[in-house]
Amino acid sequence: TPPSGGARPRLAFLGTGYLGATYAICFAELGYEVLGFDVDEAKIAKLAGGAVPFHEPGLDELLRRNLAAGRLRFTTSYKETADFADVHFICVGTPQRADGMGADLVYVEAAVTGLAQHLTRKALIVGKSTVPVGTAEWIEQLVGKHAPADLGVEVAWSPEFLQEGFAVEDVLRPNRIVIGVKTEWANAMLYAAHKGVFDLAATEDREVPLVVTDFATAELVKVAANAFLATKISFINAMAEVCEVAGGDVTQLARAIGYDPRIGNRFLQAGVGFGGGCLPKDIRAFQARAQELGAGEALRFLHEVDLINLRRRTRVLTLAAELLDRRSGPAGPDLSGTRIAVLGATFKPNSDDVRDAPSLAVAGLLAKAGADVRVYDPEGMENARIAQPDLTYEPSMADAVRGADLVCVLTEWADFRNADPNAIGELVAARRVIDGRNCLDASLWTHAGWEYRGMGRPERT
Ligand code: NAD
Repeated sequence: TPPSGGARPRLAFLGTGYLGATYAICFAELGYEVLGFDVDEAKIAKLAGGAVPFHEPGLDELLRRNLAAGRLRFTTSYKETADFADVHFICVGTPQRADGMGADLVYVEAAVTGLAQHLTRKALIVGKSTVPVGTAEWIEQLVGKHAPADLGVEVAWSPEFLQEGFAVEDVLRPNRIVIGVKTEWANAMLYAAHKGVFDLAATEDREVPLVVTDFATAELVKVAANAFLATKISFINAMAEVCEVAGGDVTQLARAIGYDPRIGNRFLQAGVGFGGGCLPKDIRAFQARAQELGAGEALRFLHEVDLINLRRRTRVLTLAAELLDRRSGPAGPDLSGTRIAVLGATFKPNSDDVRDAPSLAVAGLLAKAGADVRVYDPEGMENARIAQPDLTYEPSMADAVRGADLVCVLTEWADFRNADPNAIGELVAARRVIDGRNCLDASLWTHAGWEYRGMGRPERT
């Protein structure tokens, strides 16, 4: 049984990126008094002005409503943050280190140190960023060094599972809450900080499972969940590879195995693989940390998971060369003189996030092979231009496909899924399509005269 909540604590979220901004806004919506802190002044100015600096369905409206209600504010001042909140959630970025493996904790260190120095009363610092196991203990030491000793500042861990594109729903109605704590006080405080979520569930006749555990387990839950999801995607993509040589259809295979409730049909879509700011970096960081701890062998399979995932990107290049009847030399296929439309730049639909997006990586491979690549995405153009300035971007789907010898659908936006193959067929130079997400109705496209290639599916012309 959870401890009784008492008065609602005031909450601060340090780092107002995808994670922190979504949390700050949603917890204000749940009725908490919230302060969002970031070192990025432009981002804070935008948020304070009522504009979400990234694309997340439903979030703009909640931001404006809660700013207007006076429950939500934003700042770049550590002192103001330290004075304001009882519970401080650390939501800063933990990118991949320059050496490619472990997670870089410089932002976590800066945020915790900056905050701790300014604290003047007892508070709880809760890690939410995705980190290597052991980070909570290290943060405790940092706090011990930088916060005034007599305050008794405590640390806890609460990993985050939100999915971009569904973030509002995931934060307001999470499928579980995990907290790692050492004391009853931290447990009670963190329960009170989440009481709004439990209360909302109660009014909707739902329950949100609460897992209370130690620091190490709480930290590991997050990376274990991501490792499992990445493995599930790479598993079905490995089956796609086998289907490609055996003449099977991975979409039917996935459907058939997915009916087994022990397997389940979610996260079982073969395609160009996973990307984004989390899965790729998290599985690499998890391997690096396990290695440091002497359990490297246990996670060796994650290296294979990564390789399978990256091979799907080169598979699109091979398929393109096949469809365009281009030979491969030792340096790969030569696609010069061809024009290819790439539909999709974000790593998944309903997001403007292009971090490690398979679509952009494939667009880069096609361009490197000499093709004239034209990219279009409904929400990701601005970020894509920054991430890959060398590519050519078009303002609409029609502009991207006009005159194309090949169309590659690499992010499963509804606009692309529902596109009319006849209408698009009028614009292209040749009706050839690679369905990198197996999201198109193959028979519809082939009936409209398209040469269609999916991932892990037999040829259809
Ligand atoms: P992000 O890059 O969108 O945001 C990170 C923010 O931290 C930026 O706004 C940056 O300015 C800010 N920052 C850097 N140093 C700071 C400091 N000293 N003080 C305050 N702010 C500082 O990243 P994100 O996607 O929000 O991810 C944050 C963390 O959450 C990562 O560890 C990530 O793995 C994890 N996570 C992300 C998601 C997701 O879907 N995006 C889901 C679960 C967990």
